[in-house]
Parts: sequence; structure tokens; C-alpha cells
Amino acid sequence: MQEISHDVVIVGAGNAGTALAAQLLRLGARDVALLDPSRTHVYQPLLSYVGAGMATTAQTRRPRSALVPDGCTWHTQAVASVDPDAGHLTTTDGTRIAYGDLVLCPGARPDWDALPGSRAAMDEAHGSTNYLPELAPKTWELIRGLRSGTAVFTVPDRPVPCGGVAYKPLFLACDHWRRTGVLDRIEVVALVESPTMFGIPQIDRRLERAAQRYGVQVRTGTSVRAIRAEDQTLETTAGELHYDLLHLTPEHRAPEWIAAAGLSDGAGSFITVDERTLQHPRHRRVWGLGDAADTHSSKSGGALRKQVPVVAYNIAAARMEQPLHEYDGYSVAPITTSRSHLLLAEFDRDGGLQPMFGLRDLARPRPWTLAFDRYLQPQLYWHGILPGRL
Ligand SMILES: Cc1cc2nc3c(=O)[nH]c(=O)nc-3n(C[C@H](O)[C@H](O)[C@H](O)COP(=O)(O)OP(=O)(O)OC[C@H]3O[C@@H](n4cnc5c(N)ncnc54)[C@H](O)[C@@H]3O)c2cc1C
Repeated sequence: MQEISHDVVIVGAGNAGTALAAQLLRLGARDVALLDPSRTHVYQPLLSYVGAGMATTAQTRRPRSALVPDGCTWHTQAVASVDPDAGHLTTTDGTRIAYGDLVLCPGARPDWDALPGSRAAMDEAHGSTNYLPELAPKTWELIRGLRSGTAVFTVPDRPVPCGGVAYKPLFLACDHWRRTGVLDRIEVVALVESPTMFGIPQIDRRLERAAQRYGVQVRTGTSVRAIRAEDQTLETTAGELHYDLLHLTPEHRAPEWIAAAGLSDGAGSFITVDERTLQHPRHRRVWGLGDAADTHSSKSGGALRKQVPVVAYNIAAARMEQPLHEYDGYSVAPITTSRSHLLLAEFDRDGGLQPMFGLRDLARPRPWTLAFDRYLQPQLYWHGILPGRL
């Protein structure tokens, strides 16, 4: 067995891991390693626009080799297990890597087992999801091809990356159907699991208004229990529903090896962390952030703008027994209400609006916020956020 060691080991070179590695190196860290088997980095927020014909798959991707910061070691193996008591992890090819500090940010993935029939429904001709990068173009094909019938969009009240963006495919599709003159012939249904559309009254009102404009039937308090792909039927808590187009937002979970290492509490799959310091409560050299961490706040790339600097600082602070910085629970949901307008919900873990720049009105649908989200934000991501400058 090959054995190596690094001062700081980061598992997952996605949004969180790449930005953290860059920030640690900027703070003077000398021996930082990233582990990620995937050769391609996907900017996930653009997938919503791929699913609406407003971006291409190529625009979401960059070779990871071009994004790993200078001075950082990239191991292309996946982590298979972690032994936090011994202070090392093992990769899928059997390499053992010892660490001074370990940061876990392997993201979250759809939990197909949580909803019977869901994976099969995505393989079938009428179902799709923007939450699998390879299926986002199919979402747009289905939307473009539908001239009449029933279109169903699910909005679960469960762990999902950037929960509110489940509304993006709904409103982008409705606007397309209206512009092409077929909206009147399509019954559009949003199955919303929570009691209101978003959970913050000001955002609820704006989403309800958008839904009314397109004649969307919003069925709140409705859970999907199973999908029968063979006859295009959803089994819900309010009865069965036939669909001609289904966009599914699947519940997500963290990788299994996290719970196997005893790093998640109870029945959950996500890494248990102190919601403020992002440190594991028992293993003080283990940290969690991003979609894989249980921070009791909504998972999003926007949340990482606040989480990454906290962990970058806290690793050194904990070693020097200094007070730790705290993540305040900030998160975002940019929601398109049409193909030309977007509202930006910024909120804290208690559901209070928390505008980062003090501009409360960003929560009102505007054209320039959509232009920012679609065109400027990806450039900031590649050139500012991932290199640790923002
Ligand atoms: C369709 C969609 C739309 C979204 N829209 C928005 C939006 O508009 N605004 C917003 O703020 N957020 C949005 N998000 C959420 C945002 O993209 C995520 O919150 C963010 O990418 C999380 O970053 P992360 O680093 O935690 O995980 P990821 O970016 O998913 O990265 C995880 C990395 O870990 C690697 N990995 C996994 N397992 C292992 C292993 N065993 N060993 C080593 N490496 C491993 C993976 O290969 C991956 O590269 C959206 C997400 C999706 C899916």
C-alpha cells in the first residue's frame, strides 16, 4: 500500500474545494492537496439555463487541470474511506493519505432510492432533471417538443442544492410556451411539498404572482411518493397524476463513506459540523462545507462565498488555539420568473431576508439580475471565486 501525507487534504475539487485550496494558499499554507477523480469541473448553476435552451453544456465545463491552483497537489483518486481517529483516509486504489487537517466537500448527489421509480423515469422519454448535467439538454428538448398535455415540475422540501432553483425550469418553460403560443394548451402543475412556495412571505407573494400569470396550478403540501415511468404517472399524497413532461428535482444525499466513518449523526448522510465554525464536533481536525455538510442552512454556491473564508481562517486559528470565525447561515436562491426576469432571494438559516449588499429590492424580479446570473456570475465564478480572489 502506498502511503503519503499532506498538511491539509481537501476532498472534492468542486466549488467549495477549489476555492478553499486557493484561499489557503493565498493565506500562506504550503502543503495543500485536492482529491477529485473527475477531470471536468461543472459550473452547476448554468445547468438551469442549459435546460431552457439559454446556455450550452460546453459553457458549464472546464478541464479541472486548468482550475487547480498553482502550488496545490491534485490526486485523481476518489476517497473510499476515512479513519478520523487515525487521521488518514484511503482512496479507491488503496493509497493511504495522512492529514494534518481534513476538509470534506464532496458535494451531494441525487438519492434515487428515496423516491421509487425516479431513476427509471429519468431514463424514459418524458422525464428529465437539470440535476444531472448530462440530462439538462434533454429538459430543453422536452420543453421545446411539448405542444399540449400536462407538464409537472416537482419542488421538494428536502435537501437539494439551492432548493429555490427548482422553480427555474418551471417559469423558463412557461415563458417559452407563452411566447410560442402553446401555453393555453398545456396544463402546468407545480407539486410543492412545503406549505407555501418558498417559505418567506415576500418571496412567496412574488412566486405566486408569477405562477398566476402563467396559469400554473400550484399544489402546495403535496409530496411525490413514487413514479411509474411505464405509464407516466406520479403517485402523490393527493392522488395520481399523469404527465406528458416531468421535471424532477430529486432529494440529495452525501456519499455513503461519510456515515461509514462516523462523521454524520443519526440517520443523516451529511457531515455533522458546528453550524457556525464548520468544524466536526468530535474530530477537531475535520471540517465540512458545501453541499455535503449539515450546516442547517440552505445549500448553495452563494452560501460558499461565506463558508469558504471561514474554514480557510479557522484551520490556522484552531492550530494556534485562537477564537474561530463563524458562518452566519447566509444562502441564496436566484429564481427566474420569466426568460427575462430574475429575483434573488438572500436569506439566513431562520428564513429571514439577508441581502448581502443591503439591497432588499434584489428580491424583486428584474432584467439586470437575470443578466447578472446568466452572463456575469459565470465569469466571476471562473475568474474570481474559484481562484480564491472573491
Ligand atoms: C441544477 C443546479 C442549479 C444550481 N443553481 C444554483 C444557483 O443558481 N445559485 C447557487 O448559488 N447555487 C446553485 N446550485 C448549487 C451549487 O452548484 C452547489 O451548492 C455547489 O456546487 C456546491 O459545491 P460543492 O463544492 O459542495 O459540491 P460540488 O460542486 O458538487 O463538488 C463536489 C466535488 O466532489 C467530488 N467528489 C465526490 N465524491 C468524491 C470522492 N469520493 N472523492 C473525491 N472527490 C469526490 C466531485 O467529483 C465534485 O467535483 C445549483 C446546483 C444545481 C445542481
